[in-house]
Amino acid sequence: MAEKLYTIPVNEAFDSGAECPVCAMFTKLENDSIDFMMGPSYMEDDIRMDTNKMGFCKPHMRMLAVQKNRLGLALILKTHLDEQKKQALSFKGKQIKPKTLLKKPERSDLAVWCEKQTESCYICSRIKNTFGRYIDTVLHLYKKDPEFRKKYESCKGFCQEHMGMLIDKGQEILSQDMLNTFYQTTLDLYTENLQRLADDLDWFTDKFDYRYKDAPWKNSRDAIERAVTKTNGIIME
Ligand SMILES: [Zn+2]
Ligand SMILES: [Zn+2]
Repeated sequence: MAEKLYTIPVNEAFDSGAECPVCAMFTKLENDSIDFMMGPSYMEDDIRMDTNKMGFCKPHMRMLAVQKNRLGLALILKTHLDEQKKQALSFKGKQIKPKTLLKKPERSDLAVWCEKQTESCYICSRIKNTFGRYIDTVLHLYKKDPEFRKKYESCKGFCQEHMGMLIDKGQEILSQDMLNTFYQTTLDLYTENLQRLADDLDWFTDKFDYRYKDAPWKNSRDAIERAVTKTNGIIME
């Protein structure tokens, strides 16, 4: 099956001990894409044509902007600005109507274009396809590979976004009995691990009490970093 290609990164993520293995997969893909962008690829014509048109979303531009390859980023930005200017000039001379109490005018092409541009991102589109295959692979492995199923059952659960994604994909791939078990397991993993994190946060806050100043941290030292993965899918590095 085509998913064979993806079993290694999927297994690695489930072995990583992350609060959401799917977040771990996504973050690795994201970091690899940023490295790819800042490697020799930006000098390739077809890639540059795509980055000129699509640009980058705010989080990914923020990641690119702190990379060491300043020359590379300057070149990417320069030709992207040229393309943006060219596209923006095509709206010149168009007429738009004011909003009145009675009638809401059609949105201007320029405003629609602005919205599209802020949503479009070369890195997001590069990640999207592979990430979809990763999610497929999680479900195929769960279905076919008892070893992986054990690994799934003993992971630390998922963030909300990815739990939802897994449940949706489970409905596509698993048959009724297995789907019921998968659903219950996934939900149990979520709630039990929320409890574990809540306990870690409890101890973290207790440590601010002078009575516990010299007590051991137990598992709580990085409780905030791990909790934000669960709540918002953020992997702190
Ligand atoms: Zn996640
Ligand atoms: Zn993006």
